[in-house]
Amino acid sequence: MSARLDSTGLPLRPDLRGRTAYGAPQLDVPVRLNTNESSYALPPAVAAAVTEAVAAVVPGLNRYPDRDFAALRDALAAWLVRSTGVAVAPDEVWAANGSNEVLQHLLQAFGGPGRTALGFTPAYSMHPIISASTGTSWVDGTRPGSPGDPFDLTADSAAEQARRVDPDVVFLCSPNNPTGTALDLDVVRAVHEAAPHAVVVVDEAYAEFARPGTPSAVTQLDGRVRLVVTRTMSKAFAFAGARLGYLAADAAVTAALRLVRLPYHLSSLTQAAAVAALAHADELLSTVEALKEQRDRVVAGTAALGLRPVPSDANFVLVGGFADSGAAFEALLAHGVLVRDVGLPGYLRMTAGTPAETDALLAALGDVLGDVR
Ligand code: PMP
Repeated sequence: MSARLDSTGLPLRPDLRGRTAYGAPQLDVPVRLNTNESSYALPPAVAAAVTEAVAAVVPGLNRYPDRDFAALRDALAAWLVRSTGVAVAPDEVWAANGSNEVLQHLLQAFGGPGRTALGFTPAYSMHPIISASTGTSWVDGTRPGSPGDPFDLTADSAAEQARRVDPDVVFLCSPNNPTGTALDLDVVRAVHEAAPHAVVVVDEAYAEFARPGTPSAVTQLDGRVRLVVTRTMSKAFAFAGARLGYLAADAAVTAALRLVRLPYHLSSLTQAAAVAALAHADELLSTVEALKEQRDRVVAGTAALGLRPVPSDANFVLVGGFADSGAAFEALLAHGVLVRDVGLPGYLRMTAGTPAETDALLAALGDVLGDVR
């Protein structure tokens, strides 16, 4: 067969051959703590408001949606102003179908063939995957760790790596998935300075769960045209199924993203649902404190079992100390508890859910540890 065709006879791009698709298992088990979703359904009043807003646009579905999603940008900007105290204008906001698509737009605009993205792994697995699918070379940076946090990333280390690679895009993730800890803002500032040609993306998908005293990188945007902060409604807003991610950045960044997005990428249904949800932000976020309590219970409970949880600012905990994390994953699954094997030997990642789910998780861990530790 011609080398231009792959083993299935298709002209698949050579750089995609042999790759496996992203795929956290979607299993129907009683306790699903593997993809950092909220375990809480939308409050009935919010569900009703979203339903009404969506119903109102249905007769007009014969027309394309507002390509520039003006009402949604207004609502997102107002939310960012209210939640961060920073004056973010609507033209400094971008949105797409999940923050994954926002990241894809960023790489389409600022990465691509001949360009390089740097991330500090372990971090969000889609950063290298979206880099690859956009033809962007990926450089795996490291997190040197410290006595209190084996995955700590210091400003000095991050800046040294950024200076050495001189990338076009840098990914920082704060709080970091899968390790859980937030970054000090001096890391953001140091990387921005050390990588003078890069768009620096701070992925804040879990920002709402951070421990007190963890300011958002949104506070650093002023005067930094190359800095971008991405957020999502999938986690704290309990809106993962709606697919709505967004970012804050200089208006020059959002203008660049308009060059690569597909026309009408956000459907009328999505726009209406998200605007309605944002009007009820406080109700949607009312479970954040409860989830943080469960997060802290997972930390304390796993430590009490002799495991080694990593400090967390997110709605999940990376837990180390498993002699065989693959076997522990399977044993927990046999107990009806789905967690995430993130490919770090000795570690499993566990989402914080309801109190009953934490009970089930800790009980199952207690049961299985004897066999697999
Ligand atoms: N960033 C991080 C760090 C994530 O963990 C996730 C989801 N797991 C995303 C971005 C993407 O989420 P979404 O596309 O649902 O906004």
